[in-house]
Amino acid sequence: MNLKKSKALMEKAVSVIPGGVNSPVRAYGAVGGTPPFIERGFGPYLEDVDGNRYIDYVLSWGPLILGHSHPEVIEAVIEAIRKGTSFGAPTEREIRLADKIIEIIPSVEMVRLVNSGTEATMSAIRLARAYTGRDKIVKFAGCYHGHGDSFLIEAGSGSLTLSTPSSPGVPKGVAGDTLVANYNDLDSVKTLFDKYPEHIAAVIVEPVAGNMGCVPPVKGFLEGLRSLTRANNALLIFDEVMTGFRVSPGGAQEKFGITPDLTTLGKVIGGGLPIGAYGGKKELMSMIAPAGKVYQAGTLSGNPVAVAAGLKTLELIGADGFYDRLFQWTEKLVQGIRDIAGRAGVQLQVNQAGSMFSFYFSENPVYGFDDVMQADKQKYTELFHKLLDRGVYFPPSAYESLFTSGSHDEECLSKTLEAFEDSLK
Ligand SMILES: *Cc1c(COP(=O)(O)O)cnc(C)c1O
Repeated sequence: MNLKKSKALMEKAVSVIPGGVNSPVRAYGAVGGTPPFIERGFGPYLEDVDGNRYIDYVLSWGPLILGHSHPEVIEAVIEAIRKGTSFGAPTEREIRLADKIIEIIPSVEMVRLVNSGTEATMSAIRLARAYTGRDKIVKFAGCYHGHGDSFLIEAGSGSLTLSTPSSPGVPKGVAGDTLVANYNDLDSVKTLFDKYPEHIAAVIVEPVAGNMGCVPPVKGFLEGLRSLTRANNALLIFDEVMTGFRVSPGGAQEKFGITPDLTTLGKVIGGGLPIGAYGGKKELMSMIAPAGKVYQAGTLSGNPVAVAAGLKTLELIGADGFYDRLFQWTEKLVQGIRDIAGRAGVQLQVNQAGSMFSFYFSENPVYGFDDVMQADKQKYTELFHKLLDRGVYFPPSAYESLFTSGSHDEECLSKTLEAFEDSLK
């Protein structure tokens, strides 16, 4: 594959942008090679500056559930932009987006818009701490909640109850307030509640984990979190920045019938523009300034262009049959991948939830972070490069979910499976 222009651009980029990119995974550090610089996206396709075309399964890491540059979303954006790009004052469309989110996400009665998923989770734990008067939070190994200090924490070696920063620059004091449990392991959460009774403000979880590949919850896990948090007067926060609108129209909470206290959203609700949101019961959300005392603000929050893109996206995915078609298409792809691996005698675990999926080169089913770590990363890397050469764009890391969109069609399906079969040889 010719990546001449991309190579030249990367050489230039690294001298002015850290690592040449504005978000680490884009640099291809995990898989090696030069990332294609993108010229444009249309439907399920990406086209790079050297004219290579790819079927895209990254979709901007989740947001583009309708595919790239959907004509109606673009139209809504242009219409909004013509009237101005930002006002720092209230607009009617923000109410419409809030209404729509409240209508779709079962537990949300009131919602605040922010600019990214990171802001949403940071704000949600501030609110949880304010409400409970407690400082500690529980997160799960392998779950990602953006790059806020409180989340860049990993379990200390040898002990479930001692945490350490996973990035330099995160204060030890902050690490002390984040406890790390194991995904799909309720006992690990119980242990923390036993050790720190009345100190834990909230448990935050990706209700389907999507940032260690795709790892659905085992039966009883989310139910258990709900009852444990309730019994300990702690809040349950569902980080649905990825799962919102991807595993079910109303998010994982609808799919599994669990009501969290707070929900964070992002990605799909911006239709490809920067946005995030957090919401929940009125009683809780009324504590946010200026209705209440918990401070949280944003110069560009509720940005009219992002809101227009998000609103149009939610409207389009609300159409009859959208999800049936999207999920059926995804299942066909996933089943096709399983069949090919089976025929090739390759041990492949394929996890799927709605329009998210991922696969692991492993003999064992993948239920949590330790299982993910045991999968063969090198095999994924080889497959990734072979697929890229054949015009199929998978995430440049073994630990990411893949996404599908309403624009992926029969041609994408057959081409992807053909490339997959070829690449597995
Ligand atoms: C992507 C993601 C975030 C962070 O969102 P940004 O918009 O990148 O800040 C938070 N939580 C989850 C579950 C995510 O997938």
